[in-house]
Amino acid sequence: MRIIVTGGAGFLGSHLCDKLIERGDQVIAIDNLLTGSPNNIAHLQNSPDFQFIEADANAALPEDLDFDQLYHLASPASPNKNNAQSYMALPFETMQVNSFGTWSLCEEALARGAKFLFASTSETYGDPLEHPQKESYRGNVSTTGPRSVYDESKRFGETITSAFIRHQRLDGKMVRIFNTYGPRMSSDGRVVIEFVRAALQNKRFPVFGDGKQTRSFCYVSDLVDGIITVMDKGEKGEVYNLGNPKEFTILELAEVVKKLTGANSEAEFVENLPEDDPARRCPDITKARGLGWEPKIGLEEGLKKLIVHLQTMKTP
Ligand code: NAD
Ligand code: UDP
Repeated sequence: MRIIVTGGAGFLGSHLCDKLIERGDQVIAIDNLLTGSPNNIAHLQNSPDFQFIEADANAALPEDLDFDQLYHLASPASPNKNNAQSYMALPFETMQVNSFGTWSLCEEALARGAKFLFASTSETYGDPLEHPQKESYRGNVSTTGPRSVYDESKRFGETITSAFIRHQRLDGKMVRIFNTYGPRMSSDGRVVIEFVRAALQNKRFPVFGDGKQTRSFCYVSDLVDGIITVMDKGEKGEVYNLGNPKEFTILELAEVVKKLTGANSEAEFVENLPEDDPARRCPDITKARGLGWEPKIGLEEGLKKLIVHLQTMKTP
C-alpha cells in the first residue's frame, strides 16, 4: 500500500514509518519539523519505499499524490510549559493542525477513497473522574484552561473525523493514545525523557506536585502495533484507547529509572502540580484487545531500551 504519515519525522510517526516499510508498504512522511527532527528518519532516506515531504499538514496535498491510507499524527504533544516544543508554547500551531489540519486531511483521504486514522489522546478525558478510562467516558476537560488548546482541539479533531465518517462516508477511525515513551523522544519536557536524562547526568528528578499523580506508560513498539491494528482491523467510526494499563505514580517512575541507571538521583519537588494536570490516568484497553492487540513490553524492559539508546548517543 501507499501510506501517508503526517508527523512522520516525529517520535511516534518515525517508528510508524519504520514498521510500515518493514512490512512492505510505501510510505510518504509529511512533516514541517515543528517538533520533529530529520534525524528520526535519516536511516530511511535511502529506502526506495520512503519519501519525505517537508510541508505543513494543514496545506493541500499535491494533487497527483495518490495513497491508500493516511495516518494523521502531526501535532505538538508535550504539555510542559517550561519547554519551547510544548503545545503550551505552540498553542495556535496545535489548535490549527488538530482542527483545520484534520478537516483538510479528511477531505484529502475522502477524495482518494483512502482510509484515515486520527491520532487523538488520553487528554480528551482531561482530569478524569472515572477510572480506568473507557472510550465511553466523556471526560472532565476545561475548555479555557492552559491544556485546552491541546485537549479541546483533539476533541474537535475527533468530532471532525466522526462527521466526515457519518456524513461523507469517510472510512476513518480514531485512537486515544496514552503516555508513550521510547527511543527518539525529543527533549520536549515529558516526564519519561526528563527523568531518564536527569538520571544519566546524576541530576535530580524534577517532580511537579507531590509526585503521587499517576500515569500508565506504553513502549513505542507496542503503541505502533496498536495504531496499525486499529487502521487495518478497527471498525469504521470507532475510537480505541491505546496504552499500557499498568499504572505508576511519578515517584515510582523515578525509582524505576534510578534503579535501572544506577544513578544517585533523588526526587526534587521543583514546582506545584501544573493547572489541570490529571491526578490519575489509566486506559481500559478492552476494546483494542478485542482486535487482538495487547501491549507486551513492561516498564523496566522498555526503559532499558530507552536508556541504552540514549547512552549510545553522543549527548544524552
Ligand atoms: P512529536 O512532537 O515527536 O511528533 C509530532 C510531529 O508532528 C513532529 O515531527 C512535528 O514536527 C510534526 N508536526 C506538528 N505540526 C505539524 C504541521 N502543522 N504540519 C506537519 N507536521 C507537523 O510527538 P509524538 O509523541 O510523536 O506525537 C505524535 C502524535 O501522537 C501527536 O498527534 C500527539 O498528539 C499524539 N499523542 C502522543 C502521545 C505520546 O505519549 N507520545 C500521547 C497522546 C497522543
Ligand atoms: N512531570 C514531572 N516532571 C517533569 C515532567 C512532568 O513531575 O519534568 C509530571 C507532570 O506534572 C505530570 C506527569 O509527570 O503529572 C506526566 O507528565 P507528561 O508531561 O509526561 O505528560 P502528561 O501525561 O501530563 O500529558
